[in-house]
Amino acid sequence: DRHTDYQRLDENQLNNQVLQLEERYGAYKNRKLKLDMSRGKPCSEQLELSVGMLDILRSDDTLKTVDGSDCLNYGGVDGIPEAKELFAQMLEVGTSEVIIGGNSSLNMMHDAISRAMLHGVYGSESPWGKQQTVKFLCPSPGYDRHFAICELFNIEMIVVDLLKDGPEMDAVEQLVREDDSIKGIWCVPKYSNPDGITYSDETVDRLARMTTKAKDFRIFWDDAYTVHHLTSRPDPLKNMLAACKSAGNPHRAFMFSSTSKITLPGSGVAVLAASEENLNVIRKQISVQTIGPDKINQLRHVRFLSNMEQISEHMNKHAAIINPKFELVLNKLEAELGGKNIASWNKPNGGYFISLNTLDGCAQEVVRLAAQAGVTLTPAGATFPYGKDHRDRNIRIAPTFPALNELETAIDVLCLCVQLASVKKIRAER
Ligand code: PMP
Repeated sequence: DRHTDYQRLDENQLNNQVLQLEERYGAYKNRKLKLDMSRGKPCSEQLELSVGMLDILRSDDTLKTVDGSDCLNYGGVDGIPEAKELFAQMLEVGTSEVIIGGNSSLNMMHDAISRAMLHGVYGSESPWGKQQTVKFLCPSPGYDRHFAICELFNIEMIVVDLLKDGPEMDAVEQLVREDDSIKGIWCVPKYSNPDGITYSDETVDRLARMTTKAKDFRIFWDDAYTVHHLTSRPDPLKNMLAACKSAGNPHRAFMFSSTSKITLPGSGVAVLAASEENLNVIRKQISVQTIGPDKINQLRHVRFLSNMEQISEHMNKHAAIINPKFELVLNKLEAELGGKNIASWNKPNGGYFISLNTLDGCAQEVVRLAAQAGVTLTPAGATFPYGKDHRDRNIRIAPTFPALNELETAIDVLCLCVQLASVKKIRAER
């Protein structure tokens, strides 16, 4: 049945398909599988690449920074100079335009929103939270944890379609021009979670220069996958901070990144980049919250990663491990679902995910069927604000964590469930 257009099957053929697929599905169920494909975590071989970092600092080393401060003691609220140097290079910004934080960029994003709600941002006339409503644009499918932050702070989320080259900019421009309660937009501009797309230069420029009714509008630019290439032809991304400067909106962007998927997730180093004016306000607020970040971890990271060349080499090792997993998933999808007119997917050049779109109204059923066969997927709808995918079609595939043989079985089950849900749906609609 390879490459048969399911939409063209007659009733008899559909019934036959259902019988065949159900038989195969039953066989998987009997195997009592227990496979988890729900989160984008590195696998143990990837973690191996960075455990050497734990041996890099020794008690008899100089644990002083280049400006002579002692990493063993308090001090330096915005990070050690050598970490600023390295991560400023990674984000292509100036060393005075970065704050090096703790172990999590999500934490920095959460705190940035929290501070904006309570105190406003640089240039705010009043705290965001003093307004009756605060809204954010959420290009979707997107990262569920961004949406969770909005929910926590009661920020109303407006869905904007994410296209191949970024958010649908006509819609974005119109919305922000007319509504001053729209204070920001979430963006994962490179190898986006989950679609794996990268924003075009034009999209970056339009975001940087668009007229916003809110004078203190901010772009939350989550560049989590900035060096996470899968191929030798990485997607280029125009620098948002620079674009904002040249557009005359120098304070519009908050850029975030981290080493979570470069070194060790949970024990990485996070970065916030923004205009110096933005950072001056933020530094003051952070210094009330903490006397300073974990400088030892920052030092360890700098000594381990050294420079951009080394980061790039390190990331090639990650790619060598996970590329076969992406290839496997993409080949399976093509073999099982290609030409059947029931699903579409992206082939990303980097990042951590493959985004699968089923026929409208099938995603939840696919995830349910897969769960019953022992394969846990990211819940359908998770990639949309409030967990509501209005077309019920998007499924996020996270290929990195499972071993190849487990991944193969999991994708077999997924493809089977997509086919089963699709034929049933097509049949029901006849
Ligand atoms: N942003 C995106 C887009 C992510 O996919 C993730 C998950 N790795 C994060 C942020 C979380 O990053 P961190 O570990 O730095 O909090």
